[in-house]
Amino acid sequence: MSGGLINPVHVVGGGLAGSEAAWQLARAGIRVVVHEMRPVRGTDAHLTGSLAELVCSNSFRSDDRDHNAVGLLHEEMRRAGSLILRAADAHKVPAGAALAVDRHGFSAAVQAALEAEPLVEIRRQEVAGLPPADWDQVIVATGPLTSPGWTQAILELSGESNLAFFDAIAPIVHKDTIDFDVAWFQSRYDKAGPGGSGADYLNCPLDRAQYDALVDALLAGDKVAFHDWESSTPYFDGCLPIEVMAERGRETLRHGPLKPVGLTNPHRPTDKPYAVVQLRQDNRLGTLFNIVGFQTKLKHAEQVRIFRAIPGLEHAEFARLGGLHRNSFLNSPRVLDATLRLKADPRLRFAGQITGCEGYVESAAIGLLAGRFAAAEQFGEAPSVPPPTTAHGALVNHITGGHIDTIDAGPASFQPMNVNFGLFPPLAKSPVTVPGGPRLRGPAKSLARKKALTARALADLETWLSQDRQTAAAE
Ligand SMILES: Cc1cc2nc3c(=O)[nH]c(=O)nc-3n(C[C@H](O)[C@H](O)[C@H](O)COP(=O)(O)OP(=O)(O)OC[C@H]3O[C@@H](n4cnc5c(N)ncnc54)[C@H](O)[C@@H]3O)c2cc1C
Repeated sequence: MSGGLINPVHVVGGGLAGSEAAWQLARAGIRVVVHEMRPVRGTDAHLTGSLAELVCSNSFRSDDRDHNAVGLLHEEMRRAGSLILRAADAHKVPAGAALAVDRHGFSAAVQAALEAEPLVEIRRQEVAGLPPADWDQVIVATGPLTSPGWTQAILELSGESNLAFFDAIAPIVHKDTIDFDVAWFQSRYDKAGPGGSGADYLNCPLDRAQYDALVDALLAGDKVAFHDWESSTPYFDGCLPIEVMAERGRETLRHGPLKPVGLTNPHRPTDKPYAVVQLRQDNRLGTLFNIVGFQTKLKHAEQVRIFRAIPGLEHAEFARLGGLHRNSFLNSPRVLDATLRLKADPRLRFAGQITGCEGYVESAAIGLLAGRFAAAEQFGEAPSVPPPTTAHGALVNHITGGHIDTIDAGPASFQPMNVNFGLFPPLAKSPVTVPGGPRLRGPAKSLARKKALTARALADLETWLSQDRQTAAAE
C-alpha cells in the first residue's frame, strides 16, 4: 500500500463539487476527510447545514443529452458514477425537459451516501488558514462564497491578483451566428498588440439613430437587483455595468467601449460609424466572442432583445449572457495546471465554482474530475484528462487553458462559464443530410450538428472511462 493510501485526501467544502469529489475518491478506495463549515459557520446564501445544498433554483437545467451541452454533461456524469446525478435522478420532480429536484431530498441523499461511506469522514469545521503541512493532498471546493479566513490563505498561495471577488460577465456570442456581411475583423488602428494579429476584434457599426436606440434600451431595460449582501462589494472598480456607464451621459459609451475611432468598415468604406460595438475572441478555438464592455445586470430576456438590435448580431446565439455577482474565483488559466492543481503549491487541487466554472452541474462535474485526478495521484499514477470532445474535457480545458487571456491592456478576461457547445472542438465535417433524406437547413441542421457533437462526446467518454484507473477501482 502506498503512503498516499494511508494518508487521506482532505476536501475543503462539502458543497456540490466537494461532495462529488469525496464520493469519487471513496469509490476508488481512498480515505477522505471532508471539512464543511456549515452549520458551525454559515454563508450569506446557504440556509441549512446539509451537504450539497442548492442555494437558489432547484433545476439542473436541460436533461436532453442529445442536443444540449448540459444534458450531455448529466449523461457523462451518470456514466462516470456521479453521486450528485444519482441523487438528482432519485429526487427529481416534474419539470418538462429539465432535470429539477426536490432540494431537501436531494441534499439529504448526498449527505446520507457520504455518511454511509466508511472511507469518508465529515468534520464540521471551517478551514481558515494555510493547510497543515501533513495534508499532502487537498481539494479546495469552497465555492463562490468561500469564507474570509480561507480566502486570505488562497490569496497568499495564488497571488493577490489571481482571485476575483465579483464576476463581471459580458455576453458571449457563437461566432457562426454573427452576420459577416455587416461585421468585420479589425483591431483599432490595426494595432497587433501582444499576441494579436491586428485584426482581432469583430466590429459592429452603429449609426446615430441605432446608437441612441441602444442607449435608451440600456437605460429602460429591466435589471436584476443585487442581494443586500452583494451591494457592499466594490464591483465598480474598473468593471462598471454597461447600463451604469450609459447613465453617466448619452455620449459616455461613444467615448468608452463603443468609440468609433481607428476603424474602417470594409463593407461601406465611405461611411463613418457613429459608434462601434466590438467583440473579442474568447476561446482558443475561436468559436466564441465576448461583447467588449457589456457586463450587465440586465435581465436575460432583455439582453437578448437589446443585443440582437445591434447591427450584425440580429441572429446572434448566446453561449452566455451577461451578469454581475459576488463570486470567488481564480484566474485558473494562469494559476492551475491541466489537472486543476495550483502551480504554486501542487498539493492543492481546486474544484467547483472557485475554478471559474458556473452552475450546480458544472461545479459537480469539476468536482468529479478533481476527485478522479486526486485518486490517480494517490495511486502514484498520472491523472488522465478526458478528451476535449467530451463535455467534461471541454469544460476543464476551458478552465485550465482553452480560454485566451485578454490581448490588450485591461482586466483579465477570464470569467465564469457554463458548459456550451462553443467550448467543443468543431466537427471535422458538419452533417448536411440525413441518410436518404433531404439536405438539412436551419434548425434541422443545427439539431443534427448537436446530435453529432453529443454522439462523438459519448463515444470518446466511453473510451476514456474504460482506460481510466478509477473506473476499474470503483467497479
Ligand atoms: C446566491 C447564489 C445563487 C446561485 N444560484 C444558482 C442557481 O440557481 N443555479 C445554478 O446552477 N448555480 C447557481 N449558483 C452558482 C453555483 O453553481 C453554486 O453556487 C454551486 O453551489 C457551486 O458549487 P460549489 O461546490 O463550487 O460551491 P458550494 O456548493 O457553495 O459549496 C462550497 C461549500 O464550501 C463551504 N465552505 C466555504 N468556505 C469554507 C471553509 N473555509 N471551510 C470549510 N467549508 C467552507 C460552504 O459552506 C459550502 O458548503 C448560485 C450561486 C450563488 C452565490
